[in-house]
Amino acid sequence: MMNQTDLIYKWPEVLYVIEGVKPVARLRVPKDKLIHLKNFLLENGVYSISNFTKGDPDYLYISQDEDKVYKAHMLEEIKDNRKLGRLLGYPECCINFFCTHSHLMNKTSEELFLYSLSNTHRNPPYPFYTNNIVGHFGYGLISHFPCKYTCTESIKLGKKYFDVINDYSPDLAHRIKQILASPILYTKHDGIFLFKEYSMLSNTSFSYNTNEIISRFDHSNSQIYGIIKCSNNVKFMDKNHVAFYRDSKLVNTLKDENINLFLFK
Ligand SMILES: [Zn+2]
Repeated sequence: MMNQTDLIYKWPEVLYVIEGVKPVARLRVPKDKLIHLKNFLLENGVYSISNFTKGDPDYLYISQDEDKVYKAHMLEEIKDNRKLGRLLGYPECCINFFCTHSHLMNKTSEELFLYSLSNTHRNPPYPFYTNNIVGHFGYGLISHFPCKYTCTESIKLGKKYFDVINDYSPDLAHRIKQILASPILYTKHDGIFLFKEYSMLSNTSFSYNTNEIISRFDHSNSQIYGIIKCSNNVKFMDKNHVAFYRDSKLVNTLKDENINLFLFK
């Protein structure tokens, strides 16, 4: 059984809906947590319905307004991304971005991160409010794809949500900020690495604990994972160019269009 703080850490949108700063939310909930979450929502005056399409991800739609819950479900069914995005309170610029690139979602949703990144015309670090890549690991403040990592509307939204969490629990807000500001290495063939225990050395370099790296792939044969394990600090050199060091000694550089280092602050 999850306690309330853990539940909100996992699904912060539940709090946004309870506090009335988000009209409707769409959550991905594992079946074994569903009853517990639904009961919690009911106790807090929030309606929810789930969809269980075979083979598709299972979503739970939640809102204080029962009609909106059904509407969200219906818009998802008919794949009206624009209207669904508006109902979920996403910024118009990001809805346009998503609708232009949504055909890529059928291949791999990860690729949209790279479009958000290539639309971001400045070097990192980017505001942690817009970090949606942590969503890959089940965390995040915003749940849409920002049109760019410096999108003003997404930052505004992220800040509003962050304030709600901070009012609820400053400790939880701190935990969420910590994970959202974690450096993330995106690789096309070796998966996504999140450096959970890190310390920024400058705006574009950081040290890390090799035992605290989260990834969802089996890396026994990954050369990149080998480089990460042998090093303890990283420097962002340029787009698609990252240098790994053991203390001050260069271990290796990765320079490849399939390599992207995401830094937030
Ligand atoms: Zn935007």
